[in-house]
Amino acid sequence: MAEDCIFCKIAAGEIPSTKVYEDDLVCAFEDLNPMMPVHVLIVPKEHHANIGDNIPDALMGHLFNSVKKVAELKGIAESGYRVIVNTGDDACQTVHHVHVHVLGGAKMNDGSPAL
Ligand code: AMP
Ligand code: ZN
Repeated sequence: MAEDCIFCKIAAGEIPSTKVYEDDLVCAFEDLNPMMPVHVLIVPKEHHANIGDNIPDALMGHLFNSVKKVAELKGIAESGYRVIVNTGDDACQTVHHVHVHVLGGAKMNDGSPAL
């Protein structure tokens, strides 16, 4: 666990969150400030700062395969959803523990890069 990392602490159950899904490698929880009716964050339990931080292939695969589980649990697998991974300053990454945003539950704008 990285010191003072909020998502490490959420993954470890040390600070509260509304969990949506959890297994041995990842956990998914509701975003505190949802930007869509469904807005879930999925994080690996192991600390990695961002998607460029030497994440083992198996963990990366597991992280992204967990997206469809979250989508099914939240009832948006059929209606559709958007997956975003902000990385670094230009993308306005604010929490430096890699996380996958899963957004859905309403019609979004077209596939422009910004939400
Ligand atoms: P990003 O800009 O990609 O780094 O997104 C960080 C996300 O984490 C934002 O959408 C925040 O609303 C969310 N967030 C920050 N703190 C918490 C928390 N304690 N529980 C749930 N979501 C959080
Ligand atoms: Zn962390």
